[in-house]
This record gives sequence, structure tokens and C-alpha cells, in this order.
Amino acid sequence: MKKIALLGSTGSIGVNALNVIRANPEKYRAVALAAGKNIELLLHQIEDFRPMAVAVLDETLALELKKRSGRDRKFEIFYGTRGLVHLGTLNEVDTVISAITGAAGLLPTYEAIKAGKQIALANKETMVMAGPLVLSEAEKHNVSILPIDSEHSAILQSLMGHPKEDIKRVILTASGGPFKDLSLEEMGKVTPAQALNHPNWSMGSKITIDSATMMNKGLEAIEARWLFDVDMEQISILIHPQSVIHSMVEYRDGSVVAQLGTPDMKVPISYALSYPRHFETGVSSLRLDEIGKLTFEKPDINKFKCLDLALKAAEKGGSMPAVLNGANEIAVASFLEGKIGFLDIPNLIENVMEAHRPHPIDSIETVMEADTWARDTALTMLNAKRT
Ligand code: NDP
Repeated sequence: MKKIALLGSTGSIGVNALNVIRANPEKYRAVALAAGKNIELLLHQIEDFRPMAVAVLDETLALELKKRSGRDRKFEIFYGTRGLVHLGTLNEVDTVISAITGAAGLLPTYEAIKAGKQIALANKETMVMAGPLVLSEAEKHNVSILPIDSEHSAILQSLMGHPKEDIKRVILTASGGPFKDLSLEEMGKVTPAQALNHPNWSMGSKITIDSATMMNKGLEAIEARWLFDVDMEQISILIHPQSVIHSMVEYRDGSVVAQLGTPDMKVPISYALSYPRHFETGVSSLRLDEIGKLTFEKPDINKFKCLDLALKAAEKGGSMPAVLNGANEIAVASFLEGKIGFLDIPNLIENVMEAHRPHPIDSIETVMEADTWARDTALTMLNAKRT
């Protein structure tokens, strides 16, 4: 029986993870649930899963939850980053599903690793911001980090049984998002509603915008570099609009091993919990005869500048990937609020990166400082533009 703390239970990954847990009551138990602001959904989840502890974003929400859960409440309530860290390090927990969005996921995941919890990782920002620190703690505490991202789950499966020195290339596939075929001029005019309309996946708003700008693929390339210990030069990106091949590994003899499947996040979530077994998920079989055609193309780096910026940040290394991530979070939030245009997203990130002098990251505090610096700088730049 795996005893799970699910951080981000009310999100797109969180809800799918609970479906996987619900379908396997003899294998998994959700002992702790952490949400942000969605108290309504959290209350339903508490009723269904009866966790021993829950966490919410802040004290006000914690008080509201306390009030609404009545006198015979059987769970403890925590809040804020400390609440997330507490849930992820509970003695009763052996596995943490890290599914909060953005940099807020870093500290709780890092502390869970330090407490020796096994990690099912959706929060790619953790690896982007602090990959080497996270890996070193994972090694020290004998923790496995199993990816939930479908691409990384595919790479993990394509690597099984193959010696690392035989790898030639890791090929990350990308849907290309909703704007793959638009001109730059057309991309300049897209609205948040259009950008939120992803062709293949239903996901949280931040990752959906990252998919539309292709920043998501850049973040995934950095995540893959650390998770699979490959050089950035060994990672290539291939647009595959049907999202059927989830990624591939090419070996030096010319063999290419791929993992395919119906695009449904329950599959990689389930695998991150059942590794190396494959348990029943109820996901429909892949019908290649019905799909008929799988197509591929090269990404246009001039159109998708965010992808280029992410690869450049990885090349610079040190604090630069954390700065890229922090600036991106501000840019995406501003776009969603209608304050900037779609093409202002890469421009803002580029300006913040240009203003940053990368330094080595030797502690989690250094990473958090780089993140705060990037956010402050991005906000200052946005305000200066407005006045
Ligand atoms: P969502 O926006 O759907 O969900 C985010 C979750 O995190 C919600 O439960 C939200 O709570 C919670 N949350 C956000 N900020 C905080 C905070 N500061 N403190 C506590 N809780 C917080 O995102 P997704 O599920 O789509 O993505 C989650 C992570 O998984 C991201 O890192 C993403 O890149 C990654 N991922 C997602 C995939 C997908 O298919 N969705 C695929 C691969 C990776 P609430 O809603 O209650 O406010």
C-alpha cells in the first residue's frame, strides 16, 4: 500500500491522480491533500478520500475550510509553504505526488526528498530551477524521482534495459500547440482564450500557455537533461501534432525506441506510481488504424522564441534557468490578465535574461533568490512599459 501526499489535488494532474488512486484502493491511499484556493473541490475530495491532513494556500482559506468542515472534522488543516512542506514530510507518507504548478512546487518537493519520500514528479519547474541540487539530495536519501510528464515517462520506458553509453539522442515530441501554423503576425494578435484552447490535452492554464509558446518544450528539455543525465546537445525536439508518440530514444546503432499511447495523463501518472509495473487504467486502446497517419515536422525556433530562450538558459546554466522560469511565470500571468500580448511573453523573458548575470547555484536559497530577482525585474519592466 503506497501512502500518498498529493500536492496540487485540485488541479488537472491532481484530479487525474485521484482517479488513479480511486481505481486502486488496495494499492494506494491518499493520506494528505494540498490545494490552493479551490475549497469547494477540496471539500468533495476530503469526503471521498478521508485524508489525515490537508493544506490550502493561506490562513484565511484554512479558517474557511475549518468552518465549513464542521465539528467532527477528522483531519488536520495546514496552510502556506510550511503547510505543503509539512504534508510532504509526514511520517505516514511514503510517496509525494508533486503536482502544484510553478515555482511554488520547488520547496515542498525538495523537502520531501530530504525526508526520503519517493517522488512522482509533475512539477517540472523543480527540475528546471534546481536540477543538480534536487538530484544530489535524491541520491543522498535514496529517493527515486519518477516523471509524470508524458514525454519523460516515455523516455524512461524507452531507456529501460539499454546501457546509458549507447544513447545517441533523446527525441522529445511536441504537439506544437494551437498556433503551430500561424504566421508571426497572426500570433501577435491571439487572445488568452485562443491560447487556452489546446488541441490535444486538457491542462492547467499556465502549462497550456507554455504549450502555445512552446516554452513547455524548453522546460521539458531542461527537465530531461537532469532526469536522464544527458547533455543538452543530445536532446532534439520534434513536432508531432497527434501526440501519439510521447517521445523516443535513438541509440548509436541507429535503433529508435519509442513509447506510444492514447494521450491521457492517467497513463503516465499511473506508471509513476506503479513503476516498473503497468497497472490497469481504463484508458482506451490506441487505435492506429483509426488515426491513420502520424506526422512530424521541425519546430520553427524563430516563431517560437520561448523554446530558443529556454535552450539558451540551459546553455548558460547556473541561476539562468531559474530566472527564465520566474520571468516566464510573470509573463504568462500578465498575458492571461490581458496586460500584455502573446509575443510580449518571449520579449519580456529575453529582457530579464539579458539583465541577469548568471551565478552558480549552491543552495536552494540561491535558487529562490534568483527566482525572486527574476519576478521583481519582470514586474519592474512591465510597470516601466505601462507608465
Ligand atoms: P493546474 O493549474 O490545473 O493545478 C495546479 C494545482 O496547484 C492546483 O491544485 C492549485 O490549487 C495548486 N496550486 C497552485 N499554486 C499553489 C500554491 N501557491 N500553493 C498551493 N497550491 C497551489 O495545473 P496542472 O495540474 O495542469 O499542472 C501542475 C504541474 O504539472 C505543473 O508543473 C505542470 O507543468 C505539470 N504538468 C501538467 C500536465 C497536465 O497535463 N496538466 C502534464 C505534465 C506536467 P487551486 O486550483 O486549488 O488553487
